[in-house]
Amino acid sequence: MERPFFTVQHYIDGMFVDGGPRFEVFYPATNEVIGTAPEGGRAEVDAAVSAASRAFKSWSRTPAAERRLVLKRFAQLIRENEADLAATESWDVGRTMRENTHGYIPRIAANIEFFADFAVTHGSSAYPMDNGYINYVLHQPVGVAALITPWNIPMLLATWKLGPALAWGNTVVLKPAELTPLGAWKLAQLADQAGLPPGVFNVVNGFGPESAGQYLTEHPGVRLISFTGETTTGKAIMTVAAQSLKRLSFELGGKGANIIFADADLERAVNISMRSSFFNQGELCLAAPRLLVQRPVYEQFVEKFVAATKALKVGDPFDHSSNIGALIAPEHLQRVEGYVHGVRNSTAEILTGGERPLLPAPFDKGNYLSPTVIVGTQHSDRICQEEVFGPVVTVAPFDEEDEVVAIANGVSYGLSSVLQTRDLGRALRVAAAIEFGTVWVNDFFVRDLRAPFGGAKQSGIGREGGHYGLEFFTETKTVCLSNV
Ligand code: NDP
Repeated sequence: MERPFFTVQHYIDGMFVDGGPRFEVFYPATNEVIGTAPEGGRAEVDAAVSAASRAFKSWSRTPAAERRLVLKRFAQLIRENEADLAATESWDVGRTMRENTHGYIPRIAANIEFFADFAVTHGSSAYPMDNGYINYVLHQPVGVAALITPWNIPMLLATWKLGPALAWGNTVVLKPAELTPLGAWKLAQLADQAGLPPGVFNVVNGFGPESAGQYLTEHPGVRLISFTGETTTGKAIMTVAAQSLKRLSFELGGKGANIIFADADLERAVNISMRSSFFNQGELCLAAPRLLVQRPVYEQFVEKFVAATKALKVGDPFDHSSNIGALIAPEHLQRVEGYVHGVRNSTAEILTGGERPLLPAPFDKGNYLSPTVIVGTQHSDRICQEEVFGPVVTVAPFDEEDEVVAIANGVSYGLSSVLQTRDLGRALRVAAAIEFGTVWVNDFFVRDLRAPFGGAKQSGIGREGGHYGLEFFTETKTVCLSNV
């Protein structure tokens, strides 16, 4: 695959501009430089927030049906550019094209389309009182939204925030992760082509602390912040944002459990577990890397799961036979390997993986780790408590329902988990008892955009999706109307 070179720019007030020193963008699969992006500072953040504030005056008053038209054009352009966007995401993240072409880009378009429609069809409610008065509720745009996204699924998360923010009449400044600036830049090009008015959607590239990210979160012109990223970053943003009491929505880290009861369809359970363990090289907040298997099927499950893991092909993201791509950066690979090395010094056992695979040049320079399955860990071990964010899972047996609920809940995170059983009563009981924002029963990663999404405990604050997003992205106003 011929390597492109991306000269990324900011998108401010409807113009693609430079600003700040340039930093290099690396292809995770080879660690070659594939582009540069500008590091925005206060000047670029100020310019973007000013543009967004000016645009807010007209965009917020534009009828939702008109906003829908332009957002639908944007979504249509995303669909028409599926091949280019899928490739961009592979260059950016190192994820395989195989995963990018299985509904990934259509879902990005759907994030925009769904909220464009939803904002037209959902909104006001009215409460007639016994005395003839009427109270009615308006949902009005809030102002300039800062959207801050991580590097693992850049375009999906950017559109997940852009869709509701824009559909409900806010204007936005998006700050993508420094490691993956390509997707936001491509999306800005398509939004521009779709005719989104200048200033409605801005992108400022840069870093986090003492850079574009922090400057955005402390900017007095920003009214709300939708942030996805690490829990520690969320805490830092909350501290800064408290100074001007900004509205916050946080989607943070995760450490999901994948609970497999003995009555589950074992073949299906293995397939689901492959996805919930290794999708996006395991660099997924929603991943469920703690596999908990009921003892009667434990040995059988481990045998099948390890065989399926060994069959995964690690390598060139653009080779459609590759199942597992590269981790985002050398430092991250080392961090993930650190957890594996910790296991080597314990009584736990690595059944497969744990090594850098031998790949032909130029992929021998990439950030690859073979998918890794570990048994014999203790639930209190670091690897079972902390977010590893790589293709590394632990498998442990359990006996009783209460026991597995306690293990699943025994972490500080609470984003999502997977539950596999054919017993409906058990599914209902356990889904209610485990402390996670989303529970998948007999599947993974399938969610209606009307449903709320967000995390319990250290995994987030608030929910987005459907009318839950409406609550966050609009100011709710009650008008009390007298009948005299
Ligand atoms: P980070 O928290 O490091 O970064 C996320 C974004 O915040 C980046 O754009 C980053 O910029 C920016 N940022 C960093 N520090 C600050 C700051 N002080 N002020 C403002 N912005 C800042 O997360 P990662 O990019 O490492 O992403 C991985 C994390 O994201 C994992 O913990 C994962 O679980 C979580 N995540 C959660 C999801 C969910 O839905 N709950 C979904 C996907 C990921 P820069 O890149 O320049 O540092």
